[in-house]
Amino acid sequence: MIKVFEDFELARVGQFQSVLEAAGIRTLLKNQYMNSAMGEIPFVELLPELWILDDRDLARARELIAGLLARPSDTGPDWSCAECGAEAGGSFTSCWNCGAARPDPEAG
Ligand SMILES: [Zn+2]
Repeated sequence: MIKVFEDFELARVGQFQSVLEAAGIRTLLKNQYMNSAMGEIPFVELLPELWILDDRDLARARELIAGLLARPSDTGPDWSCAECGAEAGGSFTSCWNCGAARPDPEAG
């Protein structure tokens, strides 16, 4: 397993997890419950962490995350790649799978 992302905002880590999972990458959230009553490391504030289960997904995971980080607030609707049919998040301007550019929604 490899940690690919961490952030103070659990919602953001969760969003990234959703994107990776949508791309077929198996992930794991760590430190999801920072106020856990389970007694695990209760006095250390831990950041929510996003891990991938399969190390072979690392390159793709990093690419997806880089895309998300590059355009954190510019999220349009999800779209499907015209070239390979892959589902891509609205924050991507090109296909994560084959690199094709996002179809221009204005072009109809
Ligand atoms: Zn594609």
